[in-house]
Amino acid sequence: MCSVGDAFGVDVADELNAKEYICKDCENKFKGIGKTVICPACRSSNVELA
Ligand SMILES: [Zn+2]
Repeated sequence: MCSVGDAFGVDVADELNAKEYICKDCENKFKGIGKTVICPACRSSNVELA
């Protein structure tokens, strides 16, 4: 009944791991996860941590 569920594992972890990035090409600010982050607006990988 009170076991630690696997049900809500992934989404929470993703939220915690998300970092703010800024695209150097279009200056879009967005949250990205993972090693290769791509700007969702212009699809550039020319991004840096905010
Ligand atoms: Zn961009």
